[in-house]
Amino acid sequence: MKQAILIFVLLFSVLSVAPTTLGAEKEEMTAAEKYEKRLALYKKTETLTNVPWYYLAAADTYERGLRKAIRDRPTEEGLISIFYAPSQWAGPLNPDLDDTNPLSISMFDGVGLDGNGDGIADRNDDEDVLYTFARYLEKYGYDEEDFRIALWEYYQREKSVNIVHGHAKVYEKFGTLELDEHAFPMPLNYNYSYNNTWGDRRGWGGRRIHEGTDIFANYNVPIRATAYGIVEIKGWNMYGGWRVGIRDLDNVYHYYAHLSGFEKGIEEGTIVAPGDVIGYCGSSGYGKPGTQGKFPPHLHYGMYRDNGRTEWSFDPYPSLKKWERQAYQKRKKK
Ligand SMILES: [Zn+2]
Repeated sequence: MKQAILIFVLLFSVLSVAPTTLGAEKEEMTAAEKYEKRLALYKKTETLTNVPWYYLAAADTYERGLRKAIRDRPTEEGLISIFYAPSQWAGPLNPDLDDTNPLSISMFDGVGLDGNGDGIADRNDDEDVLYTFARYLEKYGYDEEDFRIALWEYYQREKSVNIVHGHAKVYEKFGTLELDEHAFPMPLNYNYSYNNTWGDRRGWGGRRIHEGTDIFANYNVPIRATAYGIVEIKGWNMYGGWRVGIRDLDNVYHYYAHLSGFEKGIEEGTIVAPGDVIGYCGSSGYGKPGTQGKFPPHLHYGMYRDNGRTEWSFDPYPSLKKWERQAYQKRKKK
């Protein structure tokens, strides 16, 4: 038996030259080709396990965002970002943390499975990783509540469960992975102005720094979603007044504050596309519900990135400039 395994290992170390050349080709893939191949992988795994492709897409997208946010997590080499640490994949007591033998991995309580039927369970192989994750979800069942329980067991964090669940709803609704488009939060034909004020000191409510960009405009100028995503929060906040929080597929939380009111149909759980009106410019905030007029009307726009443990503010100004430029270019072409 040992000899047979040895021959297998030798055989596959020879064959493993092939994926390296594939890797080089992958770099030349366009974004559209990448999405197409990724979707094909999700759908293939759905066929094997009955786990809906948009659940797989949601978790994979969440983990792609984590890889961007966590410094000690390597960038993915293939198309799938779901991450397994070597000890998790091979088994905590496995003396060979690079073990790819499904039998010994399972003996040492590792999670790694062979998804593409080549006889090895490789944690750097897209199909093996996706299949391993799908089999994990499958154990809990196929409906939304089962999915949430599986995610809770996996991440042990309510926020992660909510983000992944939100991603799944967005993918289910649009039926595609190509959801990268962005919009500027105000239509170009209104008067508005903004400067880079991120990090400025703020007086009201104790010593705080300004976690966003203020876009000044008149009352009731429409405020629009800047990305594909799901409304995570809607309502009153002492600082932000009437505010909306939208989570996009990059795990980024977009915070729209001081609104005069909300657009009809915008509720927690509503799925939005870039350019969808979500509310109207105002001066609400800095007090109890309904307080307004303590400062000139403007949209306070903030961006926060989740890293799986915590969330932090980053400067939205460069993104706003980019989306505004793109909107002008789009208008010119028409
Ligand atoms: Zn502000």
